[in-house]
Amino acid sequence: MDFDFTDEQEMFRKVVRDFAEAEIAPHAEAWDRDHVFPTDAVRAMGELGLFGLPFPEEYGGSGSDFTTLCIAIEELARVDQSASITLEAGVGLGANPIFTFGTEEQKQRWLPDLCAGRTLGGFGLTEPDAGSDAGGTRTRAVLDESTDEWVINGEKAFITNSGTDLTSLVTITARTDAPGSTGKPEISTIIVPAGTPGFEVQPPYRKMGWHASDTHGLSFSDCRVPAGNLLGERGRGFANFLATLDDGRVAIAALAVGVIQCCLDESVRYANERNAFGKPIGSYQAIAFKCADLAVMAAQARHITYHAAWLKDQGRPFKHEAAMAKLYATEAAVTATREATQIFGGYGFMDETLVARQYRDSKILEIGEGTSEVQRMIIARGLGLPV
Ligand SMILES: Cc1cc2nc3c(=O)[nH]c(=O)nc-3n(C[C@H](O)[C@H](O)[C@H](O)COP(=O)(O)OP(=O)(O)OC[C@H]3O[C@@H](n4cnc5c(N)ncnc54)[C@H](O)[C@@H]3O)c2cc1C
Repeated sequence: MDFDFTDEQEMFRKVVRDFAEAEIAPHAEAWDRDHVFPTDAVRAMGELGLFGLPFPEEYGGSGSDFTTLCIAIEELARVDQSASITLEAGVGLGANPIFTFGTEEQKQRWLPDLCAGRTLGGFGLTEPDAGSDAGGTRTRAVLDESTDEWVINGEKAFITNSGTDLTSLVTITARTDAPGSTGKPEISTIIVPAGTPGFEVQPPYRKMGWHASDTHGLSFSDCRVPAGNLLGERGRGFANFLATLDDGRVAIAALAVGVIQCCLDESVRYANERNAFGKPIGSYQAIAFKCADLAVMAAQARHITYHAAWLKDQGRPFKHEAAMAKLYATEAAVTATREATQIFGGYGFMDETLVARQYRDSKILEIGEGTSEVQRMIIARGLGLPV
């Protein structure tokens, strides 16, 4: 067994950490307060090569492994979850479906800009009435054979990176079976370029956290795109997005690892600095033991997450490990942020305190890219249970 990251991965971690501390951390509180999507900082992340990490050089990527991408996501999350999710979604939901399922022409058209962070892509699966039950998609795309175009009607909800100045496309799932047909719905994925007439980006949501990440509802009203914008095989949309989400779950777990590490670092620092009753609060077991528990959570979350990433890099099955990593690491992150906030006392309740922002930002980790309940369902099915 070998639990070490490679020298290259460790060097890269340092590069991303230095970038996060210099370019993201000093501004993250203001972006959060003002609900600003930091376009220039995202471009700078692109210039650092973060959006192209797992893609081949021929499309503008650097051909790194998936573990290296997870390291970048983890390091950004230590200082700002919004920046981290912008990267995670940009790579996992924006570029990856195009790389995995796209034709050569689609890859050549979209990937170089996505890999360079000059543009961002979104993935629209969730609808107002279909989230966990994504098979219940109601958005419809009908092929108009006279013009060779898909005509799309429907709505999507909560779509990350869908309305930024950099957004070039949103890939959506839509029913492509004939209206009124009975039986299992046929679901396909279709690329919708930003700015297509009939594709409307709704105003941003008022969110509990992730204030500097971009999230919108989308509506499609007789929106026409070329038939060639079908991504992957017709009718394979459901299976394709499930495969996309397996990667995403490990990446979200890596984001959670960064959050827990942040809570540990901040809590130990504060427990040594803050005095109560004439002594540092870290001298009281109640606080010291919380820090010990945070250290255990960070270690466990890191091991389960990077084991899943390693399996993926080895080309081995990792579906169940991905679900377990996402479930454990995200629930641990929510616990860790609550405990760190407690260690900070009243200051922990102030918006400008880093652990307070991490507390607000963490809750979505148990919901997005498959809720904790969905992860338990996947794990239970893997155990042979008929759930
Ligand atoms: C900030 C943010 C960003 C997002 N980004 C994207 C994005 O980029 N693209 C995208 O497509 N989606 C995105 N989402 C949507 C997200 O993936 C969904 O919210 C999530 O999958 C849950 O779906 P839902 O909200 O419809 O909840 P529901 O599916 O309605 O679930 C409600 C509750 O019921 C539980 N539940 C549902 N079914 C079962 C069951 N069979 N057994 C047990 N419990 C069950 C759920 O676990 C949950 O607790 C985002 C959401 C947010 C808030």
